[in-house]
Amino acid sequence: MNFTVITIFPEILSALQVGVLGKAIEKGVVSVEAINPRDFTHDRHRTVDDEPYGGGAGMVMKPEPLVAAIEHARALHPDTKVLLLSPRGTIFNQQKAQELSTLSSITLVCGRYEGIDERVTQFVDEMLSIGDYVLSGGEYAALCVIDAVSRLIPGVLGCMGSLQDESFNDYLLEYPQYTRPAVFRNLPVPEVLRSGNHSHIESWRRFERIKQTLFKRPDLLSKAHLSQRDVKHINSIIKGIPWTPK
Ligand code: SAM
Repeated sequence: MNFTVITIFPEILSALQVGVLGKAIEKGVVSVEAINPRDFTHDRHRTVDDEPYGGGAGMVMKPEPLVAAIEHARALHPDTKVLLLSPRGTIFNQQKAQELSTLSSITLVCGRYEGIDERVTQFVDEMLSIGDYVLSGGEYAALCVIDAVSRLIPGVLGCMGSLQDESFNDYLLEYPQYTRPAVFRNLPVPEVLRSGNHSHIESWRRFERIKQTLFKRPDLLSKAHLSQRDVKHINSIIKGIPWTPK
């Protein structure tokens, strides 16, 4: 999978050189390249912004360098999907990450200042937001998208099985995780996790996924694929009945 990031601050992408992503880039499973709109300017100052028409605070990114950069990305990667990062875009979530992970090339366009000239939106395939808050630049959103999409690509994570029960997979949050010591400041690890009984552990984890989702993100539950046993779990959780092996 190739990611092309259109940005005036390509140095921000160095954050991708560490950890899981860094290894995936090293192995060549994922590649990340930057295109700087300043390279498509024709003045001495390599100007990429200008004052907004109609007045108002801040500067706006000019359309010519950005569109030239997008066209360059499309020439390099004819099958690329061009996504403009914007608070006005559709919300990026795990389902969107899954959809994007099937593509061979993604181009992410990063705005700065007060945003970009509206006409640039005519040259992109989609607008994407990473949440209902305003960042100072699209680069931070690009890092999130690249990370979330890449870890779904086979060969990026050491163990693809770890994706199975992860939060948002099948619209459920993850179960609580524990490691040694068995007791930390009088807080014990749940007995079932130390029992060695794998079917009980599996049942407890499913119960806990449903409980976490019900308490913390009830909006997700209506979309989850729930079995009759899951519905029984929900009734128990509502009545305050703890998980039992039965
Ligand atoms: N004035 C704009 C507004 O009110 O919508 C915000 C511009 S913001 C300071 C600069 C750039 O950061 C945007 O052009 C966009 O590329 C990026 N950005 C900010 N918030 C974002 C978000 N929630 N998701 C994706 N990109 C975002």
